[in-house]
Parts: sequence; C-alpha cells; structure tokens
Amino acid sequence: MTRTRLVAGNWKMHGNRAANAALLDAIVRGLGSAHFAEGGVECAVCVPFPYLAQVAERLRGTAVAWGAQNLSEHAQGAYTGEVSAAMLADFDCKYVIVGHSERRQLFGESDGQVAAKFAAARKGALTPILCVGETLEERDAGRTEQVVARQLDAVLGKGEFGDAVLAYEPVWAIGTGRTATPEQAQDVHAFLRKRVTPQTRILYGGSVKADNAAAIFAMPDVDGGLIGGASLVARDFIGICRVAERKG
Ligand code: PEP
Repeated sequence: MTRTRLVAGNWKMHGNRAANAALLDAIVRGLGSAHFAEGGVECAVCVPFPYLAQVAERLRGTAVAWGAQNLSEHAQGAYTGEVSAAMLADFDCKYVIVGHSERRQLFGESDGQVAAKFAAARKGALTPILCVGETLEERDAGRTEQVVARQLDAVLGKGEFGDAVLAYEPVWAIGTGRTATPEQAQDVHAFLRKRVTPQTRILYGGSVKADNAAAIFAMPDVDGGLIGGASLVARDFIGICRVAERKG
C-alpha cells in the first residue's frame, strides 16, 4: 500500500512577520517546486492564526501546503476568541491539527471536544491531523494502547475518519529531546492502523530531527512526521522532508 508521506511542521506559538518571511523563503527555496510532491512526500506548515494570510500569500503555487493548529467545534456565533473551520478554509488551509497534547493538557480539551473539532474540520472540507498519545506515566503503567484507542475511538464514534491524518505523539517525547524508538513507534502505529484504513496516513511526532528521522520513517506504518521544534529551523525542516522523500 503506497501512501503519500507527509511532513507537517507545527510552529506552535512562535514567529513574527519578519522571521516567518525568512523561514518560508528558505523552505520554499530548499524544497524546490512541484518536483518535491512528485517524490511521494508532501510538506506542510501549521502556523498561528494571525499569520495565515502571510503564509497563504507566500506558499500559494509552491509545493508546500499550510494549515492551522486548532479550530472551534462551532460553525459560528458568540464564541469570543474562537476561529471556525470556514474561516480557515477562507485562507485556503488544507490541514488543521486537532487534539494536540498541549491543547488537551493545557487547555483541558476532552476526548469529546476533540471529536467535535474533528467533525467540524471535516465538515468544513479541511483535513484534520488528529493527535493521540500517552503520557510517560501511562506508558509505564502499560496503558499506551488503551489510551490511544480511547482517544481515537472518541473520534471514530462520531463518524468517518475519511482521508484525515492520524499522528501518534507520545507526550513524553514532545519537546523533550527524547524520541520513541523506531520499534516503539511502529508498535503503536501498527496497533492504530487496525482501527483505521490501509490508506490512512499515520505520522509520528516527538522530537523528530533530521538525524533521527530516517530510522523512524523507515518503519512500515510510519508515513511521515509532525514536527515541532525542528520545523522552525529551515535547514532542519528541509532535512526531515528530504529524508521522507528518500524513503521507499
Ligand atoms: C509537536 O509539537 O507536535 C512536536 C512533535 O514537537 P517536537 O517536535 O518539538 O517534539
């Protein structure tokens, strides 16, 4: 089963207009044009809301897609501070990250709310990147499969997964410099794969860098990466995209 690999950057709450311009220029230059997508890998950046216009303007017509890091589960209305799927679509976002562990842990997003956000994204013709992953405590207690199954099943219980993307992000590996071993990632990906379809892309996220990406992306059920810190450094992000390109 051939799946187009995806390397998606999550800029989190970083950047400013000048830094973004330099980063985007370097990424576009480094990745070249349409040739890159032909290599069986797609690259994307998920950026803070205020910069969507800047990013859309710079990336339109290039090989790099863009998206957001969150959205509201509501279509519109009196929800101060929220951003709807339709607003993201207005900026031609292709992707939106849903249920990142920072949203779950720092902003109290429940499985049910994540499922509602996922449904809103799909209804709005966006491609959700659904994040699931266990804490270190949960892993040590042998509950990894139970936790990721619960998180995924909350979404599957509300409708089709469709062409959405799944991202396995062990919480203990995010921003810590500690990665899951390729085998640990593969085990969880293979477990998740049984709940989705053979076509579903399953990304790994958690301290992926240019120098550890090859071993992780070589696993049969790893279809690319969700990249935090390294997506803010053009050379590192390009390096990871190139590793994905070489796979397979
Ligand atoms: C993330 O935030 O999704 C992530 C994987 O971060 P990092 O690559 O910095 O661990």
